[in-house]
Amino acid sequence: MRALGQEVGDCVDCYQCVAVCPTGIDIRDGAQLDCIQCGLCIDACDTVMTKIGRPTRLIAYDNDINIQRRIAGKAPIYRIVRRAPSFMSP
Ligand code: SF4
Repeated sequence: MRALGQEVGDCVDCYQCVAVCPTGIDIRDGAQLDCIQCGLCIDACDTVMTKIGRPTRLIAYDNDINIQRRIAGKAPIYRIVRRAPSFMSP
């Protein structure tokens, strides 16, 4: 998507993610310490994007490793069960 001749993302600046956030942060600035992981911004964003026929999941739960993997063009890794740290193994 392009705007004013510049390459931009799919966000349409509707500000619904900011409006619904109980802690008042702008998640478009990235992961932040004040986030309580309530997911209201995800639902608000997906609702707007669905209504206007644009891609959903602009905001999602993720971890730093998978964010870096996506940037590198690699598939994310999901582990259903966490491994115990090595110092806990007999
Ligand atoms: S998940 Fe975090 S950023 Fe999103 S609405 Fe909740 S507190 Fe705000």
